[in-house]
Amino acid sequence: MSCIFCKIVAGEIPSTAIYQDDRVYAFADIGPKAPTHILVVPREHIASISEAGEGHRNLLGHLLFTAAQIARDKGLHGGYRVVINNGSDGGQTVDHLHLHLLGGRALAWPPG
Ligand code: AMP
Ligand code: ZN
Repeated sequence: MSCIFCKIVAGEIPSTAIYQDDRVYAFADIGPKAPTHILVVPREHIASISEAGEGHRNLLGHLLFTAAQIARDKGLHGGYRVVINNGSDGGQTVDHLHLHLLGGRALAWPPG
């Protein structure tokens, strides 16, 4: 298994756990771009959002709901952003689907 996030999910690479259940794992981003920067990933390897299939509809909803739940738990009352980068033009660098939860400061729009 060569996927870095699969290794993180399996505990083979250390990470700072934020939340976990039977379907998803959330951990601190190693290079935070905001005071709060958390990644939410499915335990199942899905390479990207564009690779998700019909059978992943519920899982995708659970990933989004989990990000919102973590934001609530972290007290991000001022707002936050949930981002999914997809493919090279989308800036995806790790080929295991992940949601970025960014908050704790005002975020510029549009992204670069
Ligand atoms: P993306 O560019 O959307 O594919 O995001 C990949 C993210 O994974 C980046 O924000 C990286 O900082 C983060 N990242 C890469 N390796 C690790 C790691 N070992 N632990 C935590 N976050 C990581
Ligand atoms: Zn993976």
